[in-house]
Amino acid sequence: MDEFTEMRKRMVDTQIITRGIRDRRVIEAMRKVPRHLFVDRSLWDEAYDDHPLPIDNDQTISQPYMVALMTEALELKGDEKTLEIGTGSGYQTAILAELSDTVYTIERIAPLLDKAKAVLSELGYDNIFFKAYDGTLGWEEFAPYDAIIVTAGAPRIPPPLMDQLKEGGRLVIPVGGKYSQELIKLVKRKGSFKETNLGGCRFVDLIGIHGWKE
Ligand code: SAM
Repeated sequence: MDEFTEMRKRMVDTQIITRGIRDRRVIEAMRKVPRHLFVDRSLWDEAYDDHPLPIDNDQTISQPYMVALMTEALELKGDEKTLEIGTGSGYQTAILAELSDTVYTIERIAPLLDKAKAVLSELGYDNIFFKAYDGTLGWEEFAPYDAIIVTAGAPRIPPPLMDQLKEGGRLVIPVGGKYSQELIKLVKRKGSFKETNLGGCRFVDLIGIHGWKE
């Protein structure tokens, strides 16, 4: 076992399982994806620690537990079409690509998207489609989606994302103020939405037509 495999195993045991994540497929994906490759080499020692880390353009890669919690809430079984808003480093994208059939991911900062695309392609993922765009508008062309995840904090849930969710689909998004949000899960049933609050969180801003102004 190499040193990073060991670090990943420890991360999953001490941060993910002990905090109540139960979905076996999520746990396996977190054990498998080499998180350190999504951060700068100078941060490799910290890549499996219990906190977010900086990436380029003043953005962040989320804390491992937050990635696991949001992914578990999507209830992925393997045959889903999943939409991700906020590609960032591409780490969460890799976890989604392990657990879904196809992932559509949107990032507003093109250089971040290019970098994520390069790492994900190097790792061999061939079920991900990328777009540099305002993700608050969703990706109409491939809608509806079984699962939608937003990895930036929104002042309100963008209506296009609710429209682009399939019947029975799950949407997970941090909603609230600029400095703290609540993690909200919506399930679409017969055109209406069942809302669950999964707890407090803190994300960088979702910037766009249906998000914060730049
Ligand atoms: N999931 C990412 C990872 O694993 O590295 C972390 C994402 S980071 C917390 C949030 C990302 O959302 C940033 O890269 C930011 O540029 C992006 N973002 C913010 N507003 C956006 C929008 N309207 N559309 C697409 N991406 C957006």
